[in-house]
Formats: sequence, C-alpha cells, structure tokens
Amino acid sequence: MPVLASKFERHPSIWYPDGNIVLVSESCMFRVHKSILQSHSPEFRKMVEIPPKSIGVDYFDGCPMIHVYDSVSDLTLFLETIYNQSPNPPFHEDNSVSLTYIATCLRMGTKYESSRVMQEALRILRLECPSSYRSLKALQYRETPLIQEIGKPGEKYITILNLARRHKLKLLTPWCIYMCIQLPVETLIRGIVGPDGQREKLSDEDLILCIQGKQELIRACMEVAERFRCDGIVCHEDHCQREMERWENRRVFSELKDDFFRPDPLGFRDVLFPMDHYKFCRACRTNIDSIRQHQQESIFLHLPSTLGIW
Ligand SMILES: [Zn+2]
Repeated sequence: MPVLASKFERHPSIWYPDGNIVLVSESCMFRVHKSILQSHSPEFRKMVEIPPKSIGVDYFDGCPMIHVYDSVSDLTLFLETIYNQSPNPPFHEDNSVSLTYIATCLRMGTKYESSRVMQEALRILRLECPSSYRSLKALQYRETPLIQEIGKPGEKYITILNLARRHKLKLLTPWCIYMCIQLPVETLIRGIVGPDGQREKLSDEDLILCIQGKQELIRACMEVAERFRCDGIVCHEDHCQREMERWENRRVFSELKDDFFRPDPLGFRDVLFPMDHYKFCRACRTNIDSIRQHQQESIFLHLPSTLGIW
C-alpha cells in the first residue's frame, strides 16, 4: 500500500539509505536494518518478519513500515544504543548519562528483550551501586557517569532503588537501601520530585527495610567498634601505649556523632575509628589502618544480611 510521504517526517540521524525497514513512532520515521533489529531483539525479530508484499502493510520507498507505540525519544535511544557498538557509548559530550536515560534503557530493554540495551543501563548502575568491596573502593576515587538531574546528592538512590525493584535487579538493592538510610527522614518518607515532575516514593516494604536497617547497621557497627582491640598491634613506645589505653577505655557511644550517617560511601569508618583523635606513631597508624579496612570490608560484605535484605 503506498503511503503519503507528507504525513511523516524522517528522523534527522537514524535514517540509513541502505536500510530495509521503516519504523514509525508518532509522526517520525526511522529507516533501519532488519538484521540489526533482529540480532538485538527477539521481540523485533517477530515484528519485522513480514512476508513480501503483505496485504495491509504500508511501504515507504520499497521498505515495509512498522508502527510502534513508543515515543520518538524512547525509540531514538533504543536504536542509538543497538547501533552503537562501542562498550562505552558517549551519549553526552562529557560522557555522562542521566537517570532518565537509565530508566528508558531499562524500560525499552525489557519491552524488546534486548540484552544490549539492558546491559548499557546495568553497566552504569553497577558502578553506582557497588556489590563488592573492590568496586566500593573504586567508587571512592572516581566519579560515575550518572548525573543527578535534580535534588540533593543521594536522593537519586530513591529512583535507583525503585528501578532495581521494578526490573528485579537484586544485586543493586543493598547499596541503594544503605544510601537511602542516610537521607533525611522527611525525604525518605515524602519522597522526591523526579525529573518528570512526578513525586517518587519508596514502597512501604523498602521504607520498613530502611528504618529497621538503620537500627541494625548501627548495632553491627557498634559491635565491631567495641571488639576493636589494639593489643599486639601497637608498639611498646610509652606514648603509643598511653594512647592505646585511652583508645581501649573510650566510650564508643559518645563518639557516635550525628555524622555517623552521611552521604559518603564509607561514612561510618572515621566515626567508628576516629584516628585523628589519637596520636599513634606512624607504624602503629599503618597497622591500625589495615585492621580498620578489614573491619570496614566485613561491615560492607554483611550489609545485605544486616539490613535484612537477604
Ligand atoms: Zn607506635
């Protein structure tokens, strides 16, 4: 069936002259390759299998036209992602991506069963939500590509947690809960206003996890701090021995200040082990620090069970 060309406009960039199929979203046409769609999406594989000259199918310049119900921006992102083969596609000039972009990748990736598009979102979310101690350390030293479009630092974890729940991305949840715990109670309860102007809140189940988890996390950290002993780590110099005594007799709870939780990946470390309050010699500091790291790692690794997630 011929089609009135004036009814639709060509997409400015996703228009391959040698493409053999035309996708139509709203009033925009995308000329692409059947083989690329097929190799990236089982869902598209079914959609583009059209017998030659089928009745009821519109054609543009000899290419069958497939109408989809996605918005132009959603379809653009999907096609750009499957056509871009580089592992780190630079979608913005500075290589940053937004939460809206991530949410669209997850939504479109799920709809069209495209692992390429899902992986693009997951790659960034994994950097944002460390699930191993190594990735946690890496997070301390570099910026991730994800930019927060609106709101205060840390608020993005409400959105990320909801995305993780919606798409069953279990590995991301402990870190999201941990970061949500650090938000002011009011933000946690009332939620945030997302980039689309809609209020976004945590589910009741996740709110319960955050409130109970905070209590349990404080308990777990206190236990680690109470158990911390300098015996055998500190040298025999009088000065260090005196500091050790002071350390051992400290009241952990009084050192637990308001900044115990703060939007810092390892906020609890310096509050539990406030090295700056004690004047150990250099060698002793190095020893204490390596144990501190070990304990920090243990707290991190046990986050899922401490927070009651699994
Ligand atoms: Zn010493």
